[in-house]
Amino acid sequence: RELPGDPRTDLIPRQVLHACYSKVSPSVEVENPQLVAWSDSVAELLDLNHKEFTRPDFPLIFSGASPLVGGMPYAQCYGGHQFGMWAGQLGDGRAITLGEVLNSKLERWELQLKGSGKTPYSRFADGLAVLRSSIREFLCSEAMHYLGIPTTRALCLVTTGKYVTRDMFYDGNPKDEPGAIVCRVSQSFLRFGSYQMHASREDLDLVRTLADYTIRHHFPHLEKLRKSDSVSFSTGEGDDSVVDLTSNKYAAWAVEVAECTASLVASWQGVGFTHGVLNTDNMSVLGLTIDYGPFGFLDAFDPRYTPNTTDLPGRRYSFANQPDIGLWNIAHFATTLSTAQLINDNEANYAMERYGTKFMDEYQAIMTKKLGLPKYNKQLISELLKNMAIDKVDYTNFFRSLSNIKADSTIPEDELLIPLKAVLLDIGKERKDAWTSWLKSYLQELSASGTSDEDRKVSMDSVNPKYILRNYLCQSAIDAAESGNFEEVRLLLKVMSRPYDDQPEMEKYARLPPAWAYRPGVGMLSCSS
Ligand code: AMP
Ligand code: MG
Ligand code: MG
Repeated sequence: RELPGDPRTDLIPRQVLHACYSKVSPSVEVENPQLVAWSDSVAELLDLNHKEFTRPDFPLIFSGASPLVGGMPYAQCYGGHQFGMWAGQLGDGRAITLGEVLNSKLERWELQLKGSGKTPYSRFADGLAVLRSSIREFLCSEAMHYLGIPTTRALCLVTTGKYVTRDMFYDGNPKDEPGAIVCRVSQSFLRFGSYQMHASREDLDLVRTLADYTIRHHFPHLEKLRKSDSVSFSTGEGDDSVVDLTSNKYAAWAVEVAECTASLVASWQGVGFTHGVLNTDNMSVLGLTIDYGPFGFLDAFDPRYTPNTTDLPGRRYSFANQPDIGLWNIAHFATTLSTAQLINDNEANYAMERYGTKFMDEYQAIMTKKLGLPKYNKQLISELLKNMAIDKVDYTNFFRSLSNIKADSTIPEDELLIPLKAVLLDIGKERKDAWTSWLKSYLQELSASGTSDEDRKVSMDSVNPKYILRNYLCQSAIDAAESGNFEEVRLLLKVMSRPYDDQPEMEKYARLPPAWAYRPGVGMLSCSS
């Protein structure tokens, strides 16, 4: 349908009713914008020739200063639950979609500038982004992709040449920081909150229209479900509780969203990624990691870790809470669809049930593979995590080292810990005994597997990354970039594009955080930057 929006007047913050988006063009001011980093692999997705990056107008287009020919810029209207409370309309307050590219494989990719100026959804904020947060989003989007985790992507990072004032610093003083813009790329930026917004306004036709659009473009296989594709499930007693996914495409869709969300969260737990702001407006309907704000990878294992200062003291979005929060968010998504009468209560319950089952299946499979076990062993894994938490063991380096263990029953007990020397630091006799005891049970499982040490190592190293985008690495690249040197940003992108490979010349990027990494603002950030 025709939607409101006038690019000349559309910067006034307001409630946008009966619309999924507003036409709005980038309005950010720039002064000699510079392209400082880009992703070749995203360029490939877009069929973008390398030469395009050297075009003099590239930084102008990707800072939003010049229009993208053929584009139709807009900002999306969405709402969301923030920290468990319905927050009403949020929307793209600083992101503007330029348009979609249809590549030679007929895939549709949406290009979106983040930090390109105000929109009707900017509320009290400036619509801008600083270099610091843009570097983090640019690098982590790509790092996650190379870890094999579904994510929105990042084509490029452009500095605006202008300063942006931010006032959330630890000394309480506002600070001018360099402005920058990331071009995010995704098949869709639709979120749970995109549907919630209209349901909360009782604009139920619009929920249906948007759901139809989503299914047509992003879940087209669901429109072709046949009775013969199976699937009916019983959620309880009696005929009423039978869920037949072939008779309601919206129910089949809800189940797919639940399942892809469950897989996503399981994959985060596998690499120690903590999103930090799992509000329903940051939950992609395609099961992608979206919105890199105060995210963090675990260094020392701490299930209560949250990278978000706004999340204290409750730690709603801590590492260990992510699976439950995923379910909470799916429950609200399912409620939205039932409010719009697209699915019934049984179907909504079934979607939530599928979230739980899928998450457990995937999480168990991931942990089993991380340990190189022949089959899932709940007790062994929970004992390990308990030990890791007590001794604050580095999550990444521990699992990477674990593949060096040999399943050899002749190794004397006091030598068992040798392959883990570098990751079991400063532990006393009692803790050594605890680890030795765990290792003995572990070795017992391994010896029953019949897999050679070499094969197990190859398999374990393919899921236990050696290089992850630790907060302190990001911070080093940011410090250099803020003084004009972007080499470290580009180098980090290169290292993180092969996270599972040994890169002997890049050994230092696998190191534990140095002492300065614990200073305020490195391991923890606030929501908005
Ligand atoms: P987030 O916590 O990053 O998911 O953002 C929540 C909401 O605040 C979204 O609607 C964002 O678009 C908006 N927002 C965050 N930062 C800014 C900013 N600098 N200018 C305008 N809107 C913003
Ligand atoms: Mg967001
Ligand atoms: Mg954000």
